[in-house]
Amino acid sequence: MSEMPEFTPDFNQPDAEENSPEENTAPRREYASSRQASFSVFGSIQTILVYAFLLASLFTLFTPNNLFSGRTIERMFQAWQANPTLVAQPLIQPVQSTSRIGIVSGHWNNDSGSVCADGLKEADVNLAIASLVQQKLTQEGFQVDLLEEFDSRLTQYQAIALVSIHSDTCEYLNDQATGFKVAAALETAYPENTGRLEACLVDRYAKTTGLPYRTGNTNDMTYYHAFNEVNTETPAVIIEVGYLNLDRQILTSQQSLIADGIVNGLLCYIRNESISPTVTP
Ligand SMILES: [Zn+2]
Repeated sequence: MSEMPEFTPDFNQPDAEENSPEENTAPRREYASSRQASFSVFGSIQTILVYAFLLASLFTLFTPNNLFSGRTIERMFQAWQANPTLVAQPLIQPVQSTSRIGIVSGHWNNDSGSVCADGLKEADVNLAIASLVQQKLTQEGFQVDLLEEFDSRLTQYQAIALVSIHSDTCEYLNDQATGFKVAAALETAYPENTGRLEACLVDRYAKTTGLPYRTGNTNDMTYYHAFNEVNTETPAVIIEVGYLNLDRQILTSQQSLIADGIVNGLLCYIRNESISPTVTP
């Protein structure tokens, strides 16, 4: 996103050096010594007067007249008349007041997803990984919603980001059917944000898990249903964390590492970390 032009109104702030450190510390010392001596009425009055003086000085620094003088408002209005968008933009810019992150556990409470010959279900693998991602992000201080595949909360869902976690088929396709895929929502209010979330996830997931990145997404990923349900301001991506066939070992026995890969991708996006250009899709 391009940088917003700065609008700095003149608040006529007085010189901050008016309150020198010596003036502030002197009365405190006096207060301490008068307490050590016997309690005296004169000492108390003196203390009250000193604090009253300090408070009065503080209040005069920030009078409403200084902050909202007619001159300041007039200047703001003149600036707005000259270039309405320039001044109005910061007011309508979406504010990321939330620390909410959405994690969809693929197929959860809907169907099994891919099922292996021995009964291993994709939905169970996804839920184990998604729950670990939720735990880890909660520890990082985020509010994490663990969402079902067709969760009612997905409608107009608003968050810093939404990641849907799936695993690829358990059928043996060929020796190349190993690794992970990532797809991002096409219809989005901020394509740069969504693109960066996707790039962060690809980069960090590959580095954390060592799994190869596979391009060539299926329509199931590109036209993923949740992409059309969430609020367009919410960057949304779907990840196929690996193939249940050839990547079964890491997907079932190293789920914490798999979860770390997703968490690292999200943190890379949220903290605006740099991505090495070589692995960017
Ligand atoms: Zn799936």
